[in-house]
Order: sequence, then structure tokens, then C-alpha cells
Amino acid sequence: MNYRFLKFPEFKTKALTLSYDDGVVYDKRLVEILDAYGLKCTFNINSGLFAEKSGERKLTQKEALELYSGGAHEVAVHGVKHLSLAEVSDAVATREILADREYLEKLFGKIIIGMAYANGSCDERTANIISRCGIKYARTIVSTGKFDIPQNWLLMPTTCHHNDPRLDELTDKFLSDERRSYFWSNPPKLFYLWGHSYEYNDNDNWDIIEKFAKKTGKRGDIYYATNTDVYNYVKAFDSLISSADGKLIYNPTDIDVYIDNYGKDLLVEAGKTVAL
Ligand SMILES: [Zn+2]
Repeated sequence: MNYRFLKFPEFKTKALTLSYDDGVVYDKRLVEILDAYGLKCTFNINSGLFAEKSGERKLTQKEALELYSGGAHEVAVHGVKHLSLAEVSDAVATREILADREYLEKLFGKIIIGMAYANGSCDERTANIISRCGIKYARTIVSTGKFDIPQNWLLMPTTCHHNDPRLDELTDKFLSDERRSYFWSNPPKLFYLWGHSYEYNDNDNWDIIEKFAKKTGKRGDIYYATNTDVYNYVKAFDSLISSADGKLIYNPTDIDVYIDNYGKDLLVEAGKTVAL
């Protein structure tokens, strides 16, 4: 798919999404920082590893429900017991993901379509297995140092981990506007940051995320989104239907889609047909 014509909601050319794993108590401090700057995160959690009582490193089920519900963020699957999917049988891998999805959906009262591979353990086989469990996107631990919109959502790479020595440089590059072509405006850029909040605690480097949030937060030119928001929006773009002569475009989804029509902004409202 070519995303040269894609713009994010309200004709923004940049989107920022975060992904933090394991459901630990340090997510509380992370949520406070993200909320202060309007950043959105997907928290990948394990339904079989909640702490029995509060005060542990892991959140209890009750704490997780309180922290992740109702706010700007979302939860996604990370496997019932944090198993390395590529190292277990089809049946065990299926149960690990399907049971986690079912449990978290009941707990949070929402349909969950995303996940992050525990230990980054994934391959073509695991991508097939999770797809049959109804998972639509799954994050790997691959860092590209780029801002591309994913092509393979079931083996989705990231821009970088928060400890990546390139973080500052990549952030500046993401925030800059470089017109690459005479014909259209800035190509869309997706910054995908991931990590574990316990790393900020253990390494005593909360300043990394504080600085990143301060720099990227509360800006008019960035679409702040959960992983699922990004997935749903790009899929709505993918669903646009063009007439044979290319002069009309139809949006069959219930999401407004913003496109770059050779340098001119064009809104294709949900359910509408518009002339190019
Ligand atoms: Zn993990």
C-alpha cells in the first residue's frame, strides 16, 4: 500500500503512538506524564500475571482496571503468561493469546484487537496463529528508526525503544517538516515508541520520557493515538474506493478520512462519495 496520499485526522501529517508492556506499578507514573502532555499509549498486559496483593512490582487486577480504564489509553494482549510464542506449539500459542484476549475483553468490557509479542518472540507461524485469534496488529521489538506506516500489521516494527541512542535525533527529525516533493505536502510520519516503565525506575531515567513528552506533546500538528486508533484509521484509508476514471472517491467506513489530493487537502467523510 502506498501511503503518500494519507493524512491523519484534521489533515495532520504526523501521528504519535506509544506501547508499554507488562502491566507494572511504574505505569502509574508513566500515565501521569503522558496525560500531562496529551500522549496516548497502548499497555500490553498479561492476564495470568496480575499481582495477588498491591505493593508488588506487577499491578493487581483491580489496580490495572483503575489505571487503564476510562482514560486516553488502552490495553492490549501480551499473552496470559508472557510466553515466547515462537518457542511453543500451535496449541499453546493459540491458548496463550486467545485466553488472554478473552479475559481482558471481559475485564475491560471492550473488544481488543492488538497485542505485543512477549519477549519479541515472533515469526510467520506465530503471525498466522494470532490472526486466527482475532488479533489485527501485533508489535515486535524491531526498531526501524523510521516513521513508516506498517505494511505487515501482524509483525509490526517500531520506530525505536526509549533507550535508543537515536531517540533525540529521531524526535527532532519527526518534528521537522521537510517537503520531499513538489507535488504533495509532507508524507505522513508515524512515530512508534515502546518500552517498559520499570526500565525508567530501574535505570532512574524518567527524564527520558519527561523530555520526550514535553517535546512532542500538546502540539497542533500531531495526531495522538493509541495503537488501535492508528490501525483503525489506516484501515479506513485502505478501504477508500475510487471510481474507474479516478474522479470520485467513496469512503464506506464510519471514520472520516483525510487525504492529500496532490497538494490539496481533501476530507472524505464517513459514508460519503466526493469528487477529486
Ligand atoms: Zn513483556
